Amino acid sequence: MKHIFGPVVSRRLKRSLGVDLVPFKTCTLDCAYCECGLTDNQTVEIKEWVPTDEVIAELKDWLCANEPPDYITLAGSGEPTLHSGIGVIIDFIKDNYPAIKVAILTNTTLCHLDEVINRIKRADLILPSLDAVSEDVFQKINRPLPDMSAALVIEGLSKLVNNFTGEIWLEIFLSEGINDTDEELFKLSKVVSDLGIKTVNINSLDRPAALPWVKLLSPQQLARAASWFDNAIIITRGQSSACTLRPADLTGAIISSLRRRPQTAEDLSSSLGVDVAEITSITEKFIASGHIHKEIVNNLIFYGF
Ligand code: SF4
Repeated sequence: MKHIFGPVVSRRLKRSLGVDLVPFKTCTLDCAYCECGLTDNQTVEIKEWVPTDEVIAELKDWLCANEPPDYITLAGSGEPTLHSGIGVIIDFIKDNYPAIKVAILTNTTLCHLDEVINRIKRADLILPSLDAVSEDVFQKINRPLPDMSAALVIEGLSKLVNNFTGEIWLEIFLSEGINDTDEELFKLSKVVSDLGIKTVNINSLDRPAALPWVKLLSPQQLARAASWFDNAIIITRGQSSACTLRPADLTGAIISSLRRRPQTAEDLSSSLGVDVAEITSITEKFIASGHIHKEIVNNLIFYGF
């Protein structure tokens, strides 16, 4: 499978089959906190980055052979709305597997475009991001292309709220000292309230970030930030449920999963349904051979490339 990963058990989407619609780190942004590292291909070019037919064929094969997941999530290691065939892929899922929900993780930078809104409107759930309202803070944390602004992201969010009938969970990533100031939280909460957004997820760093200055908020700081919103949920580690599916090729599944983002042995154990000791024995072999490395963040050991 080139475009499908998982199923992973995510913190919010239960058992979720991931679909990556763009090559690794093809994105409109180069976020300082990105868990996939720095963006290799920063672009606004919307095109068929990977063959739509190939993605649909992989989905068909996977869904024929496995229990249906709770969600099919269009996400991965870049911005999924850069793919011109995203609407065709959503139509395929909703026409053939109406019981499976479709979720999209987007950085919202292309949602001001009618063509993008039209393509994603049959999804069940969209998780758009907005990390800053002030332009200087947006530039620092999201590192956009020259023509992009915080105002453009807010315009896209507004268009999404007004034209999409499914659920919207707004994602806000906070880094200490960057966008968790009273001034920025006030501005973010005003946008949320003006747009009538009902669900806000507050995230902070829980794994290695692209740039070293990104800092985790303490539980107290997260609670303080959440109190600016009527409806914020703090997303923390340990909100996963167990997955019982063991992949046929465990080593391949571990490597494929680590290529997408750094993870702890416990993350891999939970998503792959395999004992932590077995995961650790495989990852340590790859550490010894120099193929992967480990890094300690917040007292947790992450394996990655
Ligand atoms: S966090 Fe998301 S939007 Fe930001 S660079 Fe990474 S893939 Fe792109």
